Amino acid sequence: MTTARIQDFLATRRPASPCLVVDLDVVRDNYCAFTKALPDSRIFYAVKANPAPEILKLLASLGSNFDTASVPEIEMALDAGATPERISFGNTIKKERDIARAHELGINLFAVDCVEEVEKIARAAPRARVFCRVLTDGEGAEWPLSRKFGCAPKMAVDVLAHAARLGLDAYGVSFHVGSQMTDLKAWDKALADARWVFERMSEKGITLKMVNMGGGFPTRYLKDVPSAKAYGQAIFDALRKHFGNRIPETIIEPGRGMVGNAGVIKSEIVLISKKSEEDDVRWVYLDIGKFGGLAETMDEAIRYNIVTPRDGDAAEPCVLAGPTCDSADVLYEKKPYALPLSLTIGDEVLIEGTGAYTTTYSAVAFNGFEPLRSYVI
Ligand SMILES: *Cc1c(COP(=O)(O)O)cnc(C)c1O
Repeated sequence: MTTARIQDFLATRRPASPCLVVDLDVVRDNYCAFTKALPDSRIFYAVKANPAPEILKLLASLGSNFDTASVPEIEMALDAGATPERISFGNTIKKERDIARAHELGINLFAVDCVEEVEKIARAAPRARVFCRVLTDGEGAEWPLSRKFGCAPKMAVDVLAHAARLGLDAYGVSFHVGSQMTDLKAWDKALADARWVFERMSEKGITLKMVNMGGGFPTRYLKDVPSAKAYGQAIFDALRKHFGNRIPETIIEPGRGMVGNAGVIKSEIVLISKKSEEDDVRWVYLDIGKFGGLAETMDEAIRYNIVTPRDGDAAEPCVLAGPTCDSADVLYEKKPYALPLSLTIGDEVLIEGTGAYTTTYSAVAFNGFEPLRSYVI
């Protein structure tokens, strides 16, 4: 949503297009909503969603922890004021020298999903805490995470047992239900798997202590999504159902849900044209596309809300595309996007809900277009 502060910033500063404007008040509200919805869970903000220093500083000051995927992300979290105990190295795919560097920096919580990664950690970060990620099916997620991360629960037992044998602290289980998850039941299935791993480990004499319930909390794009409160209730009910009154320590790792609705991209229409006289579908080209930060339109997965100065006029579906010379740089074509017929070249539009996964996805200089500029206010 375009907040009054963002509207005011755009009106008075007139920043050049395209650019992202993020309202820190919304990030603060989101953080508070998560702490209220899941008061017993520690929040590890997924830095990759938007690593702007102002956002990391605000979250650090509010008491957030940070989930990172690389040494530079760890350094950004440290620079923002987080101490190493508040940072996890949550990527399951790490170079051994990066694990060693993280260990040197004081990081003590690492994700794994196979024995090969456990061995690297045992060598490079002896005695560290590890949690094993289990696969989820991603069903119901608009941006599913596939089989790239995690292992079957049965293998997770072997992975954690191996970690314990190598002197690591077999600490818990993690999962990620898939990004932009709108099915509240997704956590229930994953928590059933987590519980199963806890039990098998307990039979081996190893007591796991933590469940990392990942991210997946949605941002509102075109359709309404359940509130943080509804997610909190569904997750709490699932924890009770599977762990009874022995609920372990829990972590959540919101990325999109923390910053998505805090950002708006200002963009400009560069061209409106047709492919033939008979063609009744217009092509509308923006000054931002897949390579400028809107990579999540891949497979038309994420459909953003676009506000135009001519909303209310008669609208018709059009193909929406970016400005670069790559034919993949089309945002919506299979399912065209309705925009006002009165729209003209030079009109400024606002792409809402773009606070997450935009600046980080923006190319360095494809076709000479500079990376997405961002203002955090
Ligand atoms: C990307 C990521 C997140 C954040 O996911 P969202 O769907 O944006 O909340 C959380 N945890 C891990 C391990 C991730 O890779």
